[in-house]
This record gives sequence, C-alpha cells and structure tokens, in this order.
Amino acid sequence: MKRTFKGGAHPHDFKELSKDKTIVTLDAPDKVIIPLSQHIGAPCDPLVAVGDYVKMGQKIGDSKAFVSAPIHSSVSGTVLEIKPCPNPKGVEVMSVVIENDHKDEPFGDYSFTDTLENLDREKLIELIREAGIVGLGGAGFPTSTKILSCAETKIDYVIINAAECEPYLTNDYRLMMEYPHEIIDGLTVIRKIFDSKIYFAVEDNKKDVIARYMDIVKGRSDIEIVPLQTKYPQGGEKQLVYAVSGRIIPTGKLPSEVGAIIMNAGTVYAIYEMIYRRKPLYERVITVTGDAVFSTANYKVRIGSTFDYVIEKCGGFKEEPAKIIMGGPMMGMTQYRTDIPVVKTTSGILCLTAKSVDKPNNTFCIRCGKCVDACPMNLLPCVLSMYAEKKDYDMLEKYNIMSCIECGTCSFTCPGKKYLVQNIRDAKAKVGEIRRKKAEQEKAHKEAEEKKAS
Ligand code: SF4
Ligand code: SF4
Repeated sequence: MKRTFKGGAHPHDFKELSKDKTIVTLDAPDKVIIPLSQHIGAPCDPLVAVGDYVKMGQKIGDSKAFVSAPIHSSVSGTVLEIKPCPNPKGVEVMSVVIENDHKDEPFGDYSFTDTLENLDREKLIELIREAGIVGLGGAGFPTSTKILSCAETKIDYVIINAAECEPYLTNDYRLMMEYPHEIIDGLTVIRKIFDSKIYFAVEDNKKDVIARYMDIVKGRSDIEIVPLQTKYPQGGEKQLVYAVSGRIIPTGKLPSEVGAIIMNAGTVYAIYEMIYRRKPLYERVITVTGDAVFSTANYKVRIGSTFDYVIEKCGGFKEEPAKIIMGGPMMGMTQYRTDIPVVKTTSGILCLTAKSVDKPNNTFCIRCGKCVDACPMNLLPCVLSMYAEKKDYDMLEKYNIMSCIECGTCSFTCPGKKYLVQNIRDAKAKVGEIRRKKAEQEKAHKEAEEKKAS
C-alpha cells in the first residue's frame, strides 16, 4: 500500500497543462527588482549603493541575523534605485533595482566544477548560506539555518519533498526529470551533512520520476525512493513526515523534534549548483499556467523579473484573468498586480479565467461533516469557521485553531462553498496576535516583579 496520511482531498491537478513543457531559460529583462527580503527571517541590509556596478551572482544584501539568507544580483549592470517596491507578499519591500547591461558578467566562475572530497560539513553549510538558499517549495525558510537548528538533534529521516501536491504546478517535476543526476549529487551533499538515510518522497502521479530515480539509486542503501499516494496536501510538512516515518509532529513543534528534516527537490538542485558550480541562487524554475495565459511554460527565470515580463513571454493573456496566484490554487497567494518580481519562493504564476475560479459563496452549513473527514490535521473546520465568524478567540484556542496548516482542503470539500480557510486564516492571525500580546504582558509583569524583589 502507498504511504499517506489521514484525511485530505483529490482535487483535479491540471498538471497536464504544463507537465510536458520542458524547461526554457528566459533571457533576463532590461531591469530587475530584487527584494532584500525573500525568506522567513530578518531582511537583508543592502551591500551596494545607487550607481554601483554589480555582477551576476554578486551578493547585494546580507544580514547578521541567524535566521536570514543573503540576496544576489541576477544580472550584471548598474544599481538604479534602492527603494520600497510592491512585492508578491502584498506589501512594499525594500528592493534593489538594477538596470541590466545584458553582458551577464559573472561574479564567480559558474562553469567551475568541484567534488565533495575537500569540503567538510562546516564548509558545506557555509557555502549553502553564502548561496542564499532557502526552501524553494514556498516557505522560504533559510536552508543553512534549518540545518544548524538540527545540530543538537539526532536526525533519522532526511526527507526530500518531491510530492509537488499543489494542483497546476510542474516546476519540480520538470526539474526532477531533466536534472536527475544533479539532484542525486545534491542528495550526496546532504548525506555528507547529515550522515542519515535520505527518503526521496514522490507522489505516485509521477511514475516516470519514481522509475528514473529508482534506477539511478539502484544498489545504494543510503537513498530510498518512497512512492506516496497522490493526495492533497501530501507535501505538507506534518503529512509528509507521517507518511514516510509514521511519526507525528505535535502542534507547535518542528520536524526536527521528531528526528526529521525536510527539503524540497528544488532546494536540493540549488544546493547542487552551489556546491559543484559555486553558483548562488539568483534564478529558479517556475511554472506559468492556467487557462488565462496564451501558452503554458516551465521557465528558468532570473529573480527580479516581473510577473508582467514572464507572462508576456507566454504570449500574454488570451482571456482576461479573474485571478492571478503566486504558487498553486490551494495555498498560493492571490496577486492584485503583475508589476511585482519573481522571488526565490515563486514556484509558479497561475492565471485563471472566471470560469476556473471556484468562488466561495458562504452559504449555510448543512452539517455534512465532509470538511471534518478531509481535514489532515484532525480539526473541526466547520466549528472553527463558526467561532471565527463570532470572533470567539477563547473557543478558537480550545478547538486548536493554531494547528491549522491553512491547506484549504476544507474549503475545497465543502458542498456549500463556505468561507472556511479564509475565516480560519484571519482568525489564526488574530489568535497569534493575542498570544504575542499576552506573552509580552507576562514578560513585563515578571520583570517588574523581579525588579521589586531586588
Ligand atoms: S482546518 Fe486548516 S488544516 Fe484543516 S482542512 Fe481546513 S485549512 Fe486544512
Ligand atoms: S463541509 Fe461545509 S457544509 Fe459540510 S459540515 Fe463542513 S462547513 Fe458544513
């Protein structure tokens, strides 16, 4: 039996729209907008000034914070401006705007090839940090920080998330099909860092990937290809760890606390590029898809190219899009403008016409229980949504709202098309804010008590 988790859903995956589109490397645009924060953690400070000449792959931003990752120029050219610019997160983010001279002057020698032999664990982690590598599956957590956070923990399961369970997206699929030996080399780097077995977990709708990788690793006991049942959200952190190891990550805990670490397939490829070629993360593969674009594609795109630029390369819109999403339809971020840049966490640009947008209409609940059966976190989405509407934050805490992974499975399964994940997401933000304020008050109270006592 294929490994999986309890609950979940089977949305139509629409991967047929782009799965046969081989990766095409896009030319860099005349101008790139590179945000100084493209990751979870502290934003970077600029290392360049207006008027500076920068090379492709040159570090242009960095931070001393533990949770952060440097930012690199994706072109060679002149820094035009450093200013807040609109971002896929929906807010303005300090960004370096660079005019491309189209010479692609490299900062390093990216045709350089290296072997692992002379690099110890510390050096590998340092190189991963210097490359600005973050989780490319969407979360954007700095990879070197993730590795260092596991220093005190015994890691039994290094899990490669090759599930790509979000509908429409095929960027990881294409990368795995077109660069299998590079990805296997990336896995060998990870093996050297962790000295633990690697579980390469792939949904069984990618049978060609499973067959190819099984063939490549035949005879190796340090890498296991794990076929998973195709089910959404199979690539969710908790669902993946459970499917592969049978271990349950408690609410508020990290995979490392149950002896597991997860890396996305695209992240593994970025590690390969840095360790074997010394190429930092300044471009990535994205899927451009949906029924509103003239043609779909998998592009290798320079970070900082705008959505407008990329969509134009697909021939533009054939029909007015009703919705544009960065990422997939279940967990992606809806965008309200297209002059925003592709960032490290842009896995795809999904452009949907009105007929493809499943609009919630918030009808009444018929108590069918479908959302409860489908919730992969064993929550009661209908109850959470009801208390969210009532703004009853105590009851939301009681019903464990903070365990929600915002996967959207409940909304997908609801026959009444209720605003479930939307209500729950908003309420989660409020509960988080209440928790933070409470913690601050408790800290201030404790400090005042200690001061009084001394
Ligand atoms: S309640 Fe949260 S975790 Fe459960 S299905 Fe809905 S969005 Fe997913
Ligand atoms: S799936 Fe929708 S209608 Fe059914 S119980 Fe959940 S909220 Fe109610």
